[in-house]
Amino acid sequence: MPKKPRKTRKPKQTAIVRFLGRPAKPAVKLSASRRHATGEAARIAELKAALAEARKSHERLREAIDILPQGMVLLDAEGRYILWNKKYAEMYRRSSELFSPGVRLEDTIRVGVARGDYPEAIGREEEWIAERLKKLYQPGERHEQTLADGRVILVDERLTEDGGIIGLRVDITELKQREASFRLLFESNPVPMIVCALGDERILAVNDAATQHYGYSRSEFEKLTIRSLQAFDAGLPWTGDERAARTWKHVRADGTLIDLAIYSRQLVYGDRPAILLALMDTTERKRAEARLTFMAQHDGLTGLPNRNLLGQQMDDILLRTRRNAEQVAVLVLGLDHFKAVNDTLGHGIGDKLLRGVGKRLRSMLRDDDVLARLNSDEFAIVQSGVTRPEDAAFLARRLLDAIGDPYLLDGHSVVIGASIGIAVSPGDGDESEKLLKNADLALSRAKNDSRGTFSFFEAGMDARAQTRRKIEIELREAVHGDALRPYYQPLVDLASGRITGFEALVRWPHPERGMISPAEFIPVAEETGLINAVGGLMLRRACTDAAQWPDDVHVAVNLSPLQFRLGNLLALVTDTLKQSGLPAKRLELEITETLLLEKSSEVLATLHALRALGVRISMDDFGTGYSSLSYLRSFPFDKIKIDQSFVRDLAANPDAQAIVRSIISLGKGLGVTITAEGVETEAEVNCLRNEGCHEGQGFLFSRARPNAEIVGMLKTQGNWNSPAGAALVA
Ligand code: C2E
Ligand code: MG
Ligand code: MG
Repeated sequence: MPKKPRKTRKPKQTAIVRFLGRPAKPAVKLSASRRHATGEAARIAELKAALAEARKSHERLREAIDILPQGMVLLDAEGRYILWNKKYAEMYRRSSELFSPGVRLEDTIRVGVARGDYPEAIGREEEWIAERLKKLYQPGERHEQTLADGRVILVDERLTEDGGIIGLRVDITELKQREASFRLLFESNPVPMIVCALGDERILAVNDAATQHYGYSRSEFEKLTIRSLQAFDAGLPWTGDERAARTWKHVRADGTLIDLAIYSRQLVYGDRPAILLALMDTTERKRAEARLTFMAQHDGLTGLPNRNLLGQQMDDILLRTRRNAEQVAVLVLGLDHFKAVNDTLGHGIGDKLLRGVGKRLRSMLRDDDVLARLNSDEFAIVQSGVTRPEDAAFLARRLLDAIGDPYLLDGHSVVIGASIGIAVSPGDGDESEKLLKNADLALSRAKNDSRGTFSFFEAGMDARAQTRRKIEIELREAVHGDALRPYYQPLVDLASGRITGFEALVRWPHPERGMISPAEFIPVAEETGLINAVGGLMLRRACTDAAQWPDDVHVAVNLSPLQFRLGNLLALVTDTLKQSGLPAKRLELEITETLLLEKSSEVLATLHALRALGVRISMDDFGTGYSSLSYLRSFPFDKIKIDQSFVRDLAANPDAQAIVRSIISLGKGLGVTITAEGVETEAEVNCLRNEGCHEGQGFLFSRARPNAEIVGMLKTQGNWNSPAGAALVA
């Protein structure tokens, strides 16, 4: 287009003046007298000044619109350019010839279309131009233009008062890109996402993951609100400015419930404020957590609460009962000889037995009584609503009865007994730990007294338990430090007064407490398994010492039933005899009735094998235990030792005399030697001798002495019938 500088200037000025509503006019108003006086020249000068002023205003306006970040354009009623700013020209990248006052927008559009500036117009140019021009005269409607280089321009055009058009152009390329990436992120996200309106919470958009997860189609979703998905109304509106996830339960199209953690953020969707919700399904995780919690609080075998949960439940119960001043009984039930079931019938049956016991206990209890499994063979029962200790005793008795009935397991009829320890709050403690501990102490008492019973906690049990623990620790040290010693107490032939042998009795010289009695530490050794070491040590020492004594003097060694359990007793005795050089016939082994309680064929086999070696077997403390004659029949004992409790008041008590007499005649009938233990007086000796008792042992003859004193004692032997025998008595 040829340049026409003069022509182009003029319409522009007119247009500006029109646009500005002739602002310069008042500035050139002249008074009548001045007009008259100055004439034409002055008027021209004034007009020039006014023009200069108008130009200045125009420049100022130009400057102002040029710094706008948006493109701006003014068209007249015929769609001709009047004014545009720099940004506008830059946006369309058109030369200044194209944008010149008087040129129609339609012309520049045509040039643009011909150049391919509008990709949407390609192939349908005329149609597109018509549509574009239509938009121009339907002001107030915004539309977007995509340019060939990918930029997106938002076009906003409005009518001016004089029929012209003021148009704004905003480059929204970046916004569009952001929107596109958001859409991509939203649509292809594997996490279900929903956009809902802020306020009415209507669902505006959902991604594929959400439609799949919920089972609603997009159109179904759009009829819902985010609130209508909830299983329970939280009453809290979604604002989208929550920092942490909200946990919630939603209902799916098929009615199933899901647990969710919902993250939400506010955003503008379209051009309205909205909330973006990312919905993380936590149903599985919650289920797994619930399973884990259950496992952490329950015993896997019986499904009963474990010690952890018991503690929590007890704390709750104690808190409640403390307020009501109620009593709570804690019963700890231990199965008697459960290990034997496992050992003989196998763990499979052992497990079934435990389950059976758990079930039976549960069926005996009220719903609000707590039952838990504490460890392998111990259960705890928390009985609330107790008004007197007898309530707990009554329950304990019923439980013991129920447990004792046989269980039919895989074709075996299994019988198991139990013992119960009871502690009652608040007297025996008002905290779960303490009550359990005290019930446990009471259980130990019940087990020690005689199994199959129950026992209440008593003050002092705790102190005794502590002493016991101390003994255990020190005994272990004593055994390992070889501090235990055998002392020997003579056995005397009552007819001749000669020493026939000595019983080895273990002695523990304690650095602080002096000599500790075996009656105190043997039970501890048996409980802790140290008895095998103690027993082995005593056997070795006794055989080695006795090998140095005269040939006709034997040695008696006590055996604990537990030494038979290890299964190596026969080998131990054989080895010891061999190493010490002591002939088997000079060794006597003392056992008690408790060993025969189990009537195990293994025990009897071991006893027979020992006897076959030539070792003699004595029944110790006869009369104190079950004194069952069947035990005497089950094994051919060489000796029966009458317990000292019958010898004690032999002279004065006719009943004791009758018992001793019958044991002696029984022994004679069986051809067994009878020894009386605990002989302390001459009167007792005389009495025993009259009854025909073979042997005596007791303080009258001598207390147990260290080996060093035995030789001297033997030298003076042979005169027990004379009072001189008393010389040996300590
Ligand atoms: P026990 O085998 O019946 O031993 C006899 C106990 O009676 C010994 O007690 C002995 O000192 C005591 N005694 C003896 N004569 C009299 C008397 O005239 N009057 C009184 N009042 N008591 C008398 P000790 O030495 O305290 O042993 C107690 C129990 O400990 C033993 O009873 C035995 O069952 C056990 N014991 C001792 N040493 C061993 C051992 O090496 N192994 C095992 N397993 N048990 C042992
Ligand atoms: Mg003994
Ligand atoms: Mg005895």
